[in-house]
Amino acid sequence: MPSKKDILLINPWICDFTAYDFWLNPLGLLYIAAILKKHSGFSLHFIDCLDRHHPLLGRKLKTKPNGRGTFLKEEVAKPSVLKDVPRKYSRYGIPLKLFLHELEHLPSPDLVLITCTMTYWYPGVQLVVELIRKRFGQVPVILGGVYPTLMPEHAKGSCGADIIFQGPGERGILPLLREVLGDNSCPEHQFETLDEIPWPAFELLRNKKTLPVLTSRGCPFKCSFCAAPLLCKNFEQRMPSSVVSEIEYNFKKHEIRNVVFYDDTLLFKKNSHVFPFLKEIIKKNLPLVFHTPNGLHVKEIDSEMASLFKAANFQSLFLSQESLDKNLLAKACPKVSEGDLEKALVYLEKEGYSRQGINVYLMVGLPGQDISCIRESILHVRRLGARTRLAYFSPIPGTEEWQYLVENGFLARDADPLLHNKLTFPYLGWSVSPQDFESVKEMVNSPIVA
Ligand code: SF4
Repeated sequence: MPSKKDILLINPWICDFTAYDFWLNPLGLLYIAAILKKHSGFSLHFIDCLDRHHPLLGRKLKTKPNGRGTFLKEEVAKPSVLKDVPRKYSRYGIPLKLFLHELEHLPSPDLVLITCTMTYWYPGVQLVVELIRKRFGQVPVILGGVYPTLMPEHAKGSCGADIIFQGPGERGILPLLREVLGDNSCPEHQFETLDEIPWPAFELLRNKKTLPVLTSRGCPFKCSFCAAPLLCKNFEQRMPSSVVSEIEYNFKKHEIRNVVFYDDTLLFKKNSHVFPFLKEIIKKNLPLVFHTPNGLHVKEIDSEMASLFKAANFQSLFLSQESLDKNLLAKACPKVSEGDLEKALVYLEKEGYSRQGINVYLMVGLPGQDISCIRESILHVRRLGARTRLAYFSPIPGTEEWQYLVENGFLARDADPLLHNKLTFPYLGWSVSPQDFESVKEMVNSPIVA
């Protein structure tokens, strides 16, 4: 019998000015792992550089009951392109020596798969590839995820990976592995729908109390700043029964407590999607808590929606309002209409949610966004009694806003992706000034006087 091929999957460090485990899991990589696990010819190994629960971290990191918490960090040299941003730059995640220790204890892999989410997190990939090369030499390295999908040329030229994989990984990973490994026993099967893909290989994670679930992929809307429609061309929703089965399976197998929806547009076509699976989940009466960090479409929150949230035990509600500026909404964000937020808050309050506990995302830093309108939006949310969460603008290649910045000379078409960092906009002159930026942060953090 031929020996198994060793495949090493790596979730790299985050190199940034700031990072927090806001329910971050490498879901795409774990889906790929689940596909590979179905093939008996592979032996999988996983290094999660963002593992906050590694027993050799040296200290226990604080984790909130909802699963969020801090990363370890080590300050590193700030890349010169970011020299004008007056903040410290760090590598977040497990210490370097722990990564090397993990590599020491692994067999030499036949293949390495790495993921990368934000375009401006590529330095973490560079470091991982460099260390892999030092330890294992010229093993084939494949890089996938959001960054290489949006910036394949940059990824090819900068990260040292042998193959750049664009788009959803399940379509094409097996044929690619057949080719790279020269392994004809590797199935050629390609998955066409989300429901066909095996559920994510969460068993590879150390802490399984808080796990994500993806019930749909892509987005039928097209907001001017958002990458969702670019990353997945066809919007797709799973069957409600499959969502329920996955959650129940994870509850039984991993004893999960928190379920985090990773959907970009969870509530779209709610009558045929979220309503049926929430009703089923409520019937099962599992002791779970649900969270929606990606922001919910405010206009979809009606009386029935609010009542299902409460009955199912949704605790962290994040609403995607983006702005209260009518002109901005009409231009950049067609998903929101005037009056939606007020109505949603009334429905949620009727179900027993406290307004102070409801988070409302407001965008800051969109090109040309007027500072007085940002302040007015914050004041509006405060007057409604809800909690503002600032969503900082990052120029994502291929979006309308990125195009605008390029065409108007604010950003070079081939600018270093580090300049996409969500904290650079006050220092690059296309939006609010650093002083205004600090003042809106203070405004959000100052207590509400009744
Ligand atoms: S911001 Fe939300 S609604 Fe708009 S395109 Fe992105 S995911 Fe869709």
